[in-house]
Amino acid sequence: MEAATGSRRLLRRLRDVMAGSGTAQERLNEIVRIIAADMVAEVCSCYVMRAGEVLELFATEGLRPEAVHRTRLRVGEGLVGVIAATASPLALADAQSHPDFAYRPETGEEVYHSLMGVPILRGGRVLGVLVVQNRIQRNYTEDEIEALQTIAMVLAELAAGGELVSPFELAPSNGIGLLPTRLDGIKLNAGLAIGIAVLHEPRVVIRQVVAEDSEAELARLRAAIAAMQSAIDDLLARSDIASGGEHRDILETYRMFAADRGWLQRMTDAVRSGLTAEASVQKVQDETRARMSKVSDPYLRERLADLEDLTSRLQQHLAGRHFAADAALPAEFILIARSMGPAELLDYDRRRLKGLVLEEGSPTAHVAVVARALDIPVIGRVKDVLEKVEAGDLVVVDADEHQVFVRPSEDVQQAVAARLELRLGQRLSYAALRDLPAATRCGTRVALQLNAGLLLDLPYLDETGAEGVGLFRTELLFMMRQDFPTVSQQASIYRRVLEHAGERPVTFRTLDIGGDKLLPYMSEIPDENPAMGWRAIRIALDRPALLRQQLRALIRAAAGRRLRVMFPMIAEIGELDAARAVLDLELERAGARGTPPAKVEVGVMFEVPALLWELPQLLPRIDFLSVGTNDLVQFLFAADRGNPRLAERYDALSLPVLQLLAEVARDCARAKVPLTLCGEMAGQPLDAMALIGIGFRTLSMAPSSVGPVKAMIRSLELAPLEALLATLATLPPRTLRGKLHDFARDHGVAV
Ligand code: PEP
Ligand code: MG
Repeated sequence: MEAATGSRRLLRRLRDVMAGSGTAQERLNEIVRIIAADMVAEVCSCYVMRAGEVLELFATEGLRPEAVHRTRLRVGEGLVGVIAATASPLALADAQSHPDFAYRPETGEEVYHSLMGVPILRGGRVLGVLVVQNRIQRNYTEDEIEALQTIAMVLAELAAGGELVSPFELAPSNGIGLLPTRLDGIKLNAGLAIGIAVLHEPRVVIRQVVAEDSEAELARLRAAIAAMQSAIDDLLARSDIASGGEHRDILETYRMFAADRGWLQRMTDAVRSGLTAEASVQKVQDETRARMSKVSDPYLRERLADLEDLTSRLQQHLAGRHFAADAALPAEFILIARSMGPAELLDYDRRRLKGLVLEEGSPTAHVAVVARALDIPVIGRVKDVLEKVEAGDLVVVDADEHQVFVRPSEDVQQAVAARLELRLGQRLSYAALRDLPAATRCGTRVALQLNAGLLLDLPYLDETGAEGVGLFRTELLFMMRQDFPTVSQQASIYRRVLEHAGERPVTFRTLDIGGDKLLPYMSEIPDENPAMGWRAIRIALDRPALLRQQLRALIRAAAGRRLRVMFPMIAEIGELDAARAVLDLELERAGARGTPPAKVEVGVMFEVPALLWELPQLLPRIDFLSVGTNDLVQFLFAADRGNPRLAERYDALSLPVLQLLAEVARDCARAKVPLTLCGEMAGQPLDAMALIGIGFRTLSMAPSSVGPVKAMIRSLELAPLEALLATLATLPPRTLRGKLHDFARDHGVAV
């Protein structure tokens, strides 16, 4: 409390200086003098960031005055540079023995032994560094570091005011002027959109940093927190998101964050130290952001995005602003943001919001999941997008091609308009196919099923007219959570999937974690080659409790119904036998306790090439086989499926792949075991045509592929295709894509 009172007193003095007359430089000079005196330090210096990532000594009490505006350090250079580079404080009793100490003779600092410095942060950016130094080897306390950070908050406002360094100096010299620009990113949700750029919630400008009356500020903070929490409750009750689903879980987690004690306490402490409510909220966020900026863990980064979201919400409440979709927003707009929390997206009018561009973000980002549910194209990891796009610019989000066009040229605009029109036309024509059978012109039926993994995917069953779920990737449900779901939590989700599907079959694949699919709550697996490492069935068999619980949940969910279970990455029969033994045991238990499933079908994913030579023994043991070409092809060519450099190198429509698949199809037909294919190939019309030509009759694919694949099937005559593919072995070895394309063109097949 004493420290808080002291810091309040100091802040009050600084406030008077800030509000006083004189230039920014004069005020800064006065501020460093006051700090030095108050903190009993012989030196207090303020370094300000200049163009080119250079920190310039702007004011000092204690160092030689001639060093001011002369001493400059690059970010990362010297202790000051390290503080800026790491965006974190440093307190050293013996600074000169630190390996990063950089001696600058003009400053005369050799007589000062101890040093404490903090970054001057604003909006997650380092604007400068504030340092105190002492002659003796002084051990600075945590409270002192904390106090200096609070003071740095005041300086941040001064530095951001643009009087010390012109804002134009720090504007990125990207050389793009106002020319059209194309930016690259990653696809977080497919689609194409055009609209006017709206910058997501420009920062609330904090006009007052130091509080006049801390008690009143505390009351304001508390009122704003309460208002924010109740607004979030209202948001969650909204009818379009109130129904269950992962986005619901995400929003619930978000609500929990809004009540996080640690977060609320840190803001309260900051108010007690003498800051206004707004400055306290900002200070806590700036520190969190700086602390977490180096975190690469996707889960933790997601938490940061949630906190950013809550912070800006809280600021809006403090400012008394309202959230309802702003009437001033353009009729069709593209939202540009650094990162975004899931709830924030829902604040915008969905009919006008056409696309989203994020500077950060990952495919598992919660905002991406919510955007998928709303069918909004999203591109993430677009470097410096906030600096390159101005509000009001025309922007094209071409998520399918991982690119953003800013101020697109006339040509690009026309091309986009044409593509949008084409898509609309295609959508309508695919919708018209919805209730027509997927049968070739000669009458051969092909079953089209969906790949799904979230409850949000299930409405597509009705929308596309798919005949069931051929692959339900259960791991996605696990990846969305903060901890392992219990058996009953799992069962309730699986039950909802089955209920939604009704009579249509659903094939549940047991957990396929490992590889690139990591669970945030499972300790990291240090695999050198994760795709070929400890993943899928291998983890399940080594951690049987995990598998047992999942199977128990599936059995419970399918009480009295049909249950289809599929084991991923089976490489040898023994693995199937072991997994099946777990299943049998659970079925036995379920039978003794309650209603077991009416029927259980067990399948295997064919993803590991070695299994080909075990098919004669494997097939009699299973009810169906599903080929996962995504993995199979990567193992066959020894080419990482996620490596963009290899993406074009090998073709699935090649002799090795097609011959292998043809052999699998023949074996299954002989053994009368139903065969499916659920890799990406199934959803590409030309690839799907080849698969049908070699004997596949069930394909499982992403919802957006059902229309195009059905259109292809309905225009296909099977006999000539089979005749072409019968000559497989005589065809040129590398790729058959060209040949198959020619065939489709010559025979009028819509690919
Ligand atoms: C596959 O490997 O083809 C497959 C469908 O599984 P996943 O993409 O989930 O690995
Ligand atoms: Mg796979």
